[in-house]
Amino acid sequence: MHSIEKNLVNIAQQIPTNVKLVVVSKTKPIEDILQAYQAGQVCFGENKALEMKEKYDLLPKDIEWHMVGHLQTNKVKYIAPFVHLIHSVDSVRVLQEINKQALKNNRVIDCLLQFHIAVEESKYGLKLQEVQELLESETYSRFQNIRICGVMGMATFTDDKELIRNEFKTLYSYYKELKNNYFSNISSFKEVSMGMTGDFSIAIEEGSTMVRIGSAIFGERNYNV
Ligand SMILES: *Cc1c(COP(=O)(O)O)cnc(C)c1O
Repeated sequence: MHSIEKNLVNIAQQIPTNVKLVVVSKTKPIEDILQAYQAGQVCFGENKALEMKEKYDLLPKDIEWHMVGHLQTNKVKYIAPFVHLIHSVDSVRVLQEINKQALKNNRVIDCLLQFHIAVEESKYGLKLQEVQELLESETYSRFQNIRICGVMGMATFTDDKELIRNEFKTLYSYYKELKNNYFSNISSFKEVSMGMTGDFSIAIEEGSTMVRIGSAIFGERNYNV
């Protein structure tokens, strides 16, 4: 077995079957993605629109592409024809653009609302109040080509497991709040995307339905090559 396949099997054993594994392939070459694909993985995550588009063009068309990184409004058009789920909706502006590009492509694009749960200011994400205002706005009621399927968040990059756990608990409580108040009858609102290589076990204990894992499968990323 190749190491990518071994790593995949190893990670899969640590994830319950009701939790979806999104393999984050950002910066990794086509050959690495193909190895994971040949081992049965069809769900991949990228954090840059143009990189995702390039990989989409070169790889098998049954791959589900997940956008996990901050998405600039002017890049939405590159992925709108094929993206499976956008985890990183962090502004009303980007949601508006996703709706517009989805309409152009005659499709409905599934989205998650990204919350800011970490201590670091550098991380993107919405606050609960902003999301509540959005969901109650007239603007939102006119969006016919997006479907909000849940929430996403990134914990602080730290060794402090209690801090990480508390941030995941916060995200899960936001999910519950939105589910109860805005999506109680909507079965497609069901996803909590949280957990990466360093913290996915805690995320699963705290209610994650989707983990986004890169380095544990492909090895460390090298941004200098
Ligand atoms: C890179 C990235 C991941 C995967 O990180 P690893 O630590 O390599 O597992 C998950 N989510 C987001 C948003 C990312 O940018």
